[in-house]
Amino acid sequence: MNATLLGFRCAQCGQTFAPDEAQYTCPRDGSNLDACYDYAAIARAVDPRAIAATPDRSAWHYGVLLPTTVPGHGLLPPTPLTSFGWSPLYRAPRLEGSMGVRAIWLKDDTRLPSSSFKDRASSMVIARALETGVTTICAASTGNAASSLVTLCAGTGIRTVIFVPQSTPEGKLAQILIHGASVYAVEGSYDDAFELAVQASQTFGWYNRNTGVNPYTREGKKTAAFEIAEELGRKGEGEFRTSSPLHLFTPSPFRAPDVVVAPVGDGNIISGLHKGFKDLLALGWIEKMPRFIGVTATLAPALYRAWQSGTEHIETMPSSTIASGISVDLPRDGIMALRAIRETGGVFVEATDEEMLDAMGVLARDAAVFVEPACAAVYVGLRKALQLGAIQGDDEVVLQLTGSGLKDVKSALAATAGRIHRIQGRLGEIRD
Ligand SMILES: *Cc1c(COP(=O)(O)O)cnc(C)c1O
Ligand SMILES: [Zn+2]
Repeated sequence: MNATLLGFRCAQCGQTFAPDEAQYTCPRDGSNLDACYDYAAIARAVDPRAIAATPDRSAWHYGVLLPTTVPGHGLLPPTPLTSFGWSPLYRAPRLEGSMGVRAIWLKDDTRLPSSSFKDRASSMVIARALETGVTTICAASTGNAASSLVTLCAGTGIRTVIFVPQSTPEGKLAQILIHGASVYAVEGSYDDAFELAVQASQTFGWYNRNTGVNPYTREGKKTAAFEIAEELGRKGEGEFRTSSPLHLFTPSPFRAPDVVVAPVGDGNIISGLHKGFKDLLALGWIEKMPRFIGVTATLAPALYRAWQSGTEHIETMPSSTIASGISVDLPRDGIMALRAIRETGGVFVEATDEEMLDAMGVLARDAAVFVEPACAAVYVGLRKALQLGAIQGDDEVVLQLTGSGLKDVKSALAATAGRIHRIQGRLGEIRD
């Protein structure tokens, strides 16, 4: 446990718990918990320039703002678990031209160890498991949470038990199998797998990684925000002086973009990104909070409906999108996702399956990234938010990439108009 972690606060009733008092959700109302830190102590003790200057280029170098770290980190050899994070931040000039936007960056988490953003959450959960002597971790997943957990547990001695819906794409299943998990493909939806994982965790005493209900998932996911801010600080418009009373006139190496666009299923990625920028703002290490644009699938409508209703009441609605990564009936971190949008003045937009497939092609051809449908939703979000006026031409925008196209080759083949010319191998056939 990290000394700066004060404990966890319930998102609903506000009750607080000591770090070891709460494992999953609030015992009173079942809502998700949010980790709290001693920002004043961190601001006093830590110079953000020291963080940016550390030679450790893994997400663990934000240890002071994390609930835990891998035991012995820094002494251990670099494995996928001990060196996760620090994915590339690319500029996309061609998209800037076609969209008429000043700056578009792609935070490419398809390049993490298991090729999805989920590695950020899994790393934090596994670190907690190692800290507490857990021997088995279970998880429900639409595919990536599981493939990530299983990848990063390999070589640690921790066993994994996975619950997925039978619709999980083959690429993700292959990852889960080859790293050596016990896999149960449930007849039903991700939500059915989710409930079963909760019950199995209670019955067999396994540590549960389920997204959202395990508060370490959001804490792992927020590292993407730290990296974005640190990289923009380095690549951007030079040092500025923060105006926070905590850090009067200390030059910060961090810089926030104007807008962050992320795909939304359970809502844990967007709430994690929001949490990361909230941490940096509380410390006075950035000057402003970005606006968040959340992109849900039209065929997974629960969260979008709640957003339209103007309340925090989220009703379960059946999902049927091909975008497996965001195919959820009941978003498990939905309330925090709604707050990420509402508190930052952002919007939710919806993406149809057809729009996501089309966006896969655009991102592949114009921005040189190969992503799965759920991830391609960020391009649809960018386009629609521009139409709505929620993004303006002079904004600096970060598109959060979340999963590799190689995980769902079937969708990639459906997304391309390209055709393979089958030939016998003679030059004449090419001329024809
Ligand atoms: C899980 C996932 C998402 C959505 O993340 P949530 O935390 O469920 O909102 C988006 N894209 C991909 C590729 C994913 O695997
Ligand atoms: Zn509560």
